Amino acid sequence: MNVLYTCEICGARCVGHVNARYCPECRGEIKKSTQLESKARAARKRRKDPPERKPTLGQIAAKARSLHMSYGEFVAKYGL
Ligand SMILES: [Zn+2]
Repeated sequence: MNVLYTCEICGARCVGHVNARYCPECRGEIKKSTQLESKARAARKRRKDPPERKPTLGQIAAKARSLHMSYGEFVAKYGL
């Protein structure tokens, strides 16, 4: 059932569902800002993840030594 309602945001008088609170235009804006917010949340979550840790040259050299290889041989075999 469609009724006349007033948009809670811009005050526009629209015809729509009896439970409608916002005009189609404001609904679009809300949807957009909700999407932006969830994107921002995802970005914040990603930033919270620990950064990828690359082994330092010293650690690689130590590992190479433990395998009785030179640093160059180790890198050539296992890559970085
Ligand atoms: Zn509106």
